[in-house]
Amino acid sequence: MTQSPGSQRSAVFRGGTVLTVDAAHRVLPATDVLVVGDRIAEIGPSLQVPEGAQEIDASGGVVMPGMIDTHRHMWQTAMRGYGADWTLTQYFVWYYLESGKHFRPEDVHAGNLLAALEALDAGVTTCVDWSHGLQTVGHAEAAVDSLQSVPGRFVLAYGNIQQAPWEWASSPDFRAFARRRLDDADDLLGFQMAFDVTGDPAFPERGAYEVARELGVPVTTHAGVWGATNDDGIRLAHEAGFLDETSIFVHAATLSADSYHRIAATGGSVSVSTESEQSAGQGYPPTWALRAHRIPVSLSMDTSVWWSGDLFSAMRATLGADRAREHLQAHAEGETVTHCALRAEQVVEWATRGGARALGRESDLGSVEVGKKADLVLIKNENSPVSFPLLNPHGHVAFQAQRGDVHTVLVNGRVVKHEHRLLDVDLAAARREVDATVEHLRSTLGVEAWEKGMSPKVPETALLENPYTYSDYGGAMPGR
Ligand SMILES: [Zn+2]
Repeated sequence: MTQSPGSQRSAVFRGGTVLTVDAAHRVLPATDVLVVGDRIAEIGPSLQVPEGAQEIDASGGVVMPGMIDTHRHMWQTAMRGYGADWTLTQYFVWYYLESGKHFRPEDVHAGNLLAALEALDAGVTTCVDWSHGLQTVGHAEAAVDSLQSVPGRFVLAYGNIQQAPWEWASSPDFRAFARRRLDDADDLLGFQMAFDVTGDPAFPERGAYEVARELGVPVTTHAGVWGATNDDGIRLAHEAGFLDETSIFVHAATLSADSYHRIAATGGSVSVSTESEQSAGQGYPPTWALRAHRIPVSLSMDTSVWWSGDLFSAMRATLGADRAREHLQAHAEGETVTHCALRAEQVVEWATRGGARALGRESDLGSVEVGKKADLVLIKNENSPVSFPLLNPHGHVAFQAQRGDVHTVLVNGRVVKHEHRLLDVDLAAARREVDATVEHLRSTLGVEAWEKGMSPKVPETALLENPYTYSDYGGAMPGR
């Protein structure tokens, strides 16, 4: 990207298929998108562009809004893949009870750095860092330093699983940190508070909600998680007057209609992490119920301790889970589903504009429209047999594309990935940091605990009686 004195940097995508994700979800074939400074300046065919604008050939590709992940525990990326075979119980034991306390500020830095790079690489231009490993403000400073060292858009959702929310939220250290963060808030780093509401009738979380209200920051909470949080938490927060359109409910899976009514009535949204809900056991991914209650949806990947952080997987898994349930339910009633209710177009909207809406940024993020922030992704891969034909662009993004097809990424008008490579990124330094964290944890836990943590015992499987198994099989065969 060139920048001459007195002029703003500019770039133009030429001739792509543009998924606008505007209110009408328009798809514009063979269209240019011009970016000037940090904004989308013009959209149309064969645009005249300022001198020196970077030309990006988007022909054969898809230009779409940057994707937005509304819930990712970025610090956990330092343990990528470690918990692939975990249930939620094993996750709680490992992170909440046994090992989470061993993470030092530099370990939070390492995880966040790797997660931030991973997000950009996959076209996730905004990521909410659901950062519940902040045992001290030193950890929080490390989290922020890490996020600010990567040219993406992030939201620090401050949390601390080692302390009750009403304790850490009311500590002078946290308040001072939050005030400082909010004072220097810039467009690229937002702030939320992240904690869960247990459903204790005394509603001790009131104190944390009051701090959030005083600071004027949104609250994000894991809600409707089987065995952990339930309807009571939502009812208590609602009755106390703390739910509003900034509230984000993560998972919201194991809930009754009463909770969905309360969320819908107060304008909050749900962050659905389908891969997580399917595998860890929070409850069935609730998009079907959210659609029925007209509750706004965004998507998220939760944690790379199980899953990788790309929203292509989230879109695909969400379509699959919603449709699987619909078919199963119909079959149970002897019916056949002839038309899918959830469409590819809808999950692309959830992965982009839905996230912007959840974060209160719909006016300037989440779609390709003139005047909006230039957070853009070009999906194009000339070396891939999956790149053509491009017949159904929304369907292509939801079911065909993957992170390797992310050709170019812009955040705030800046090219951060081009021709499939992240720009100005020291991946070797990120690797060194993560290696040090892994080494620290492995040596602190000891080899045995490390191995045991990664490979939980498989419970004994009861074999079912098979009526077609005979001890005298040969003798039962006709003609013998
Ligand atoms: Zn989570």
